[in-house]
Amino acid sequence: MQILAQISRFHGTDIPFEICEVPVIATPEDILIRVSLATICGSDLHTVSGRRAAPTPCVLGHEAVGTIAAPTQHRSATGEPLLEGNRVTWSLMASCGTCDYCTDRNLPQKCETLFKYGHARSEGSTTLSGGFATHILLRPGTAVYRIPDSITDEEVVPINCALATVVNGLKTIGTHPNEAAVIHGAGMLGIYASCYLRERGYETVAIVDINDGRLEIAKRFGATHTFNADKLSTAEIDTALKELTNGRGADLGVEVSGVTSGLPNLIEWSAIGGRCLTLGYVYPNAHISVDADHLVRKCVTLRGVHNYHYTALGDSLRFIEESRRRYPFAELIGETYPLVEINAAFAASKRRDALRIAIAPSL
Ligand SMILES: [Zn+2]
Ligand SMILES: [Zn+2]
Repeated sequence: MQILAQISRFHGTDIPFEICEVPVIATPEDILIRVSLATICGSDLHTVSGRRAAPTPCVLGHEAVGTIAAPTQHRSATGEPLLEGNRVTWSLMASCGTCDYCTDRNLPQKCETLFKYGHARSEGSTTLSGGFATHILLRPGTAVYRIPDSITDEEVVPINCALATVVNGLKTIGTHPNEAAVIHGAGMLGIYASCYLRERGYETVAIVDINDGRLEIAKRFGATHTFNADKLSTAEIDTALKELTNGRGADLGVEVSGVTSGLPNLIEWSAIGGRCLTLGYVYPNAHISVDADHLVRKCVTLRGVHNYHYTALGDSLRFIEESRRRYPFAELIGETYPLVEINAAFAASKRRDALRIAIAPSL
């Protein structure tokens, strides 16, 4: 029986999304997924606004969850068989597993033949390559994880971009429970970083943003102190952080705001011997100016990390399962739109009504 998929196509800035139907052409090498829920990530907004280039037409959407819609011989990333009807999350990229980046450098997200979902021109074998569609075809080299029944779609949908990126970054820079952390940016990544650090034993997790609503959400996700950078100067926040740390400053700084003041501020607020992780500058020409004197004299370690090693997705799934009773993850998802209303969904996302606006292609 021929399956038809409904997909949304992005044609460029200021052009409405097109909804169309295409036949599903799956080979035994692929895993056909029926998408149950997808969320609009900040990088989808960057693409739509033209801040970041995308090949067109493109089915956007990489934060998604769904069920396997056809028999497959693939196994999950943890070696279990994958069966039709299994609910799954998957790595937002497929990598070859054999090149230098996939092996010696341990950076499969930088694979020489990397394929990223929601970022490809929608044509031929990549027609179904984004989450804003009823179906997506996963290709070999994608890490697929079965979702435990106890976790809802709403709790898990953003983890294959936002949470896995945070977990990978924090695993890379390392976490130490006796430290104090400050996070710059209370968007989705900042909220996840807050609760992840608390679960890693951090007793002081401060978070900085200019939106009081987001700072309130952060408190429910473990942030112990919040600072509104529109109301407090950098020096005032520095003083407050020093008071919280016996005059030391922040041992760990996490930049997830993408704004030009983020990294310079974190370096200024850093303790001697502190470490700064930056994840947020994912658009071209993100030029910032830092006082490198602080970086040098305070012996600050600076680390940039992009996307994630697929094992961070497995860690993220476990994190949600273990901590879901302590944090209301499902509440991070705002209004949900059917696929045919994707233009309205993006308009709501741009208004920043909620941290994540969702699209349910089967509605
Ligand atoms: Zn994303
Ligand atoms: Zn590779």
